[in-house]
Amino acid sequence: MSQDAKRIQNIRRLKREVYGEYGFFYYVPMAESYTVQVPVTVSCSYRRCLYCDLNQGVTFRELSLEEIGANLERLRLIHEDDARPPRRFLLAGGNPFVLSTDKLLAIAERVHAAFPSCEYIACFARADDVLRKTALELSALRQAGYDRLCIGIESGSDDVLRYQEKGVGRAENAAAMAALDTAGMRYSAYIMLGLGGQEMSAGHVSETASLLNGAHPFELTVVTLVLFKGARLAERVRAHEFKRMSSLETLKEGRKLLSCLTLSTVWNATHKTNLFPIKGKLPEHKELLLRRIDAAIDEMSHGDLKQHELRRWQNWGTE
Ligand code: SF4
Repeated sequence: MSQDAKRIQNIRRLKREVYGEYGFFYYVPMAESYTVQVPVTVSCSYRRCLYCDLNQGVTFRELSLEEIGANLERLRLIHEDDARPPRRFLLAGGNPFVLSTDKLLAIAERVHAAFPSCEYIACFARADDVLRKTALELSALRQAGYDRLCIGIESGSDDVLRYQEKGVGRAENAAAMAALDTAGMRYSAYIMLGLGGQEMSAGHVSETASLLNGAHPFELTVVTLVLFKGARLAERVRAHEFKRMSSLETLKEGRKLLSCLTLSTVWNATHKTNLFPIKGKLPEHKELLLRRIDAAIDEMSHGDLKQHELRRWQNWGTE
């Protein structure tokens, strides 16, 4: 076997050892796709959002500092021959920011020791994970390299958040974003189209717009509600209690939300759950984005949307 082949085989083995516990699928924030992912938690500590099946019933687990250190050494070996040393890091897991400040600081120390090239460490965070930390703690975490957190805001409407059992409301989401602003930590925010269904759509749009217009996310990751078979929301749909929106209706809902936004950010709706993937800067590209969405709505209103949808979802376990 050639040296190159041996090296490739070794890297594959190391990756299996680092990420094996995550199974077939784990979720990385869209804004952080090009990061080195460091396992620190498995699954999400909350796991009660009605629409979510991302954790596939896996129990939440914190990795010990010893395990994290061993994985960092494996990651160092994986990347030791990279043409450019990695600069961006992501703590893997549903909400690693739930970890104690002391543990997050200890993890940051180990990441910097293994990778002196590290410029920042990102991770998913729930609003309550942020709010459990004091201003001093957030500032210390920022100093240690934490930046570009990804918050699952989903909606600015308390009705929607309550219905979907998000566990935090509009006020907590607003306070968490303000606390990150104060600490100088940048953040992206996930927003989910269709989360209020037919009945709460108007409030979902207007209240999400007003929440976001008072915040400073560097990017909005716009996704569309997907009804996973394992999510409890599926039962409510079957019982005709939650009336979900069609994909064309969610595109129109996204258009309405975009039209109400006045903040400076990036509208990133390229996630594959969206009927019409599109991305641009706000406010400079807002009119262009709106025109392109209008054209897509017009075309899809008259085209064969059903065939388009069948092709789009054929590989997903959705209903
Ligand atoms: S916080 Fe995120 S990962 Fe956890 S249950 Fe809710 S949507 Fe799923």
